[in-house]
Amino acid sequence: MNIKTGGCTEDCKYCSQSSSYKTQTKSSRLVDIEPVLEAARQAKANGSTRFCMGAAWRDLAGKKSGFEKILKMVSEVRGMGMEVCTTLGMLNADQARRLKEAGLSAYNHNLDTSREFYPSVITSRTYDERLETIQAVRDAGISVCSGGILGLGEEDADRVGLIHEVSRFDEHPESFPVNTLVPIPGTPLEDNKPVPVHTVLRTIATARIVLPKTIIRLAAGRHTFSETEQAMAFMAGANAIFTGERMLTTPCSGWDEDKAMLDRWGLRGLRSFEDQEGVQMTPEGTHVQPETTTEKVQTVAQ
Ligand code: SAM
Ligand code: SF4
Repeated sequence: MNIKTGGCTEDCKYCSQSSSYKTQTKSSRLVDIEPVLEAARQAKANGSTRFCMGAAWRDLAGKKSGFEKILKMVSEVRGMGMEVCTTLGMLNADQARRLKEAGLSAYNHNLDTSREFYPSVITSRTYDERLETIQAVRDAGISVCSGGILGLGEEDADRVGLIHEVSRFDEHPESFPVNTLVPIPGTPLEDNKPVPVHTVLRTIATARIVLPKTIIRLAAGRHTFSETEQAMAFMAGANAIFTGERMLTTPCSGWDEDKAMLDRWGLRGLRSFEDQEGVQMTPEGTHVQPETTTEKVQTVAQ
């Protein structure tokens, strides 16, 4: 859910929310808590296990009351038994600590592409500033969700560079989103051609091999894939999808369509706080000792 849309001071060339470009995206202020809780309840009722909230900000400087509101959103959604993820731009150690105390499960901060290609896409912040936020998230004990976007005009070497950089984190990220560019009219990348599907599949397969325990999430752009192409992405190693009405600013396949597809391919979603081996975890990340011997649930998505 986009909890604060548009008017972002960063200049990410792919993004409809950057105030550097004239796009259709209308800016909006930070939404109130209740509509967020309602959206989370709907997501949970539709089988989502993690609720992700995004705000189009460079960082939280000068946003004290907004941050307090977001902390309340995090703790209330956690109170529903869902995992909670936020993506609010760059964070400092204290902000990361407070998000952890509020019950945050994961923080999204994508590296997006290789260190070498990054300055061709974003100039308003450096690759190392991105890495500093990821470190602050890690130090606060929050799971890291960091991946990339394909179709920026990058080469294979940049897609390898992104995976290489992520593989060198102290710990591999818990989640690696794979976005494929949805060209937005008004942005500098509006005329970019989509990357061929085999390039997306090879990127997923490489990430699966290099990041064996990381959840690889098909993210923005998935709605442009046929069902067969999505199934091939699962075979290549993707094992999570974003679902719901919309991604932050791009279309998304809806719950019903996704549920029907997953059923056809014999895939099931993990429960909240269940790890990839099907072992139930506590929100703090320790294994729940099963009272009774439960059959080992094989995650078909592997
Ligand atoms: N504002 C936060 C930030 O930039 O970290 C998060 C917003 S959103 C989760 C950021 C990610 O969405 C980008 O890193 C990019 O991978 C993806 N994204 C944004 N615009 C996109 C587009 N037009 N097509 C595909 N992916 C896009
Ligand atoms: Fe801002 Fe995030 Fe969009 Fe970049 S991707 S312009 S940081 S909202």
